[in-house]
Amino acid sequence: MSLKDHLLAHVALNGPMSLAEYMTECLLHPEFGYYTTRNPLGAQGDFITAPEISQMFGELVGLSLAQSWMDQGKPEKFVLAELGPGRGTLLFDILRATRSVPGFHAAAQIVLFEASPALRDIQRQTLTEYEPLWIDSVADLPEAPLFLVANEFFDALPVRQFMRDGDGWRERLIGAEGESLTYGLGPHAAQVALNDRIVDTEDGDLIELCAAAIPILTVVAGRIASHGGAALIVDYGDWHSLGDTFQALQAHQRVDPLETPGQADLTAHVDFEPLALAARAAGCAHTLLTPQGVFLERLGITARAQALAAPLGGSELETLVAAHRRLTHPEKMGNLFKVLGLYPSYAAPPPGLES
Ligand code: SAH
Repeated sequence: MSLKDHLLAHVALNGPMSLAEYMTECLLHPEFGYYTTRNPLGAQGDFITAPEISQMFGELVGLSLAQSWMDQGKPEKFVLAELGPGRGTLLFDILRATRSVPGFHAAAQIVLFEASPALRDIQRQTLTEYEPLWIDSVADLPEAPLFLVANEFFDALPVRQFMRDGDGWRERLIGAEGESLTYGLGPHAAQVALNDRIVDTEDGDLIELCAAAIPILTVVAGRIASHGGAALIVDYGDWHSLGDTFQALQAHQRVDPLETPGQADLTAHVDFEPLALAARAAGCAHTLLTPQGVFLERLGITARAQALAAPLGGSELETLVAAHRRLTHPEKMGNLFKVLGLYPSYAAPPPGLES
């Protein structure tokens, strides 16, 4: 039995499912799920992330977090956490870059939130010298100052899609026709969560809602508000969801999200506005949403690239120049990716995100 057979049987039994149910099954099904069964990252995989493009990304994120730790009086014990650590590359670079920050490593307890057993194994190998702790729920984050990064984590969380229809909404659902999965629309209904979007949408507009992000963000913001810390949330997306951003990537190519369930990475752009609202509701301050290119330039990526370039020539130099450009250029990841910083209202915002 394949995941597609399983989903077709599910639809036959229960009727059409929401996009969120479909994403959850495709990404996290215990036997067939995309993340549960494989390492999707890197040139041989399906997609590549900023820390996999260049060590500079993790180094600068590490220095921003370490500076926030110093600005907040160097708490003697704190949690250094990552949501969705992939191959562990980002945290590995963060820890390498902060080795020279006196007291930082000694005070840090490394905590990882990761759903995939396959990726946990790889993280264990990459980060073994730092003795990380894996948690199954974000609610298990220790009650301590929290310095956290999440890169391309929130885009993997399941979204529901709603199409504006007069004074209400119709949910976009996934059903079946013969042996194929197909899109359809649910019945017209009011949606309390979308009441405030009636004013700025028109008939036929599509809105995405990521309910799963809110409890996670609320815990993270709550820890930072009560114990201190900072969070850097990096993802592609924008402020205020509008339009269909549901997509599937396989071997670095966009594919039909319904064609090969469980074998392609499924994502949706992150709507940062509800994350910021949840942070505020938890008593935590947040920065302006800042383009990744601006964030990295403010942290000195150009100087870092020049230092790394000095001894290089030929193809190594070309790779470095291309990586710098890819991470920062507005037509590459520089503008598509955004950074939202969370911090306690009494403290300075994380470096790179000052308004
Ligand atoms: N941050 C890494 C990897 C990003 S890929 C990087 O920048 O390279 C997304 C990561 O989030 C993977 O590690 C995936 O297994 C994890 N993930 C996806 N959905 C998750 C969920 N619901 N709970 C916990 N981890 C999840």
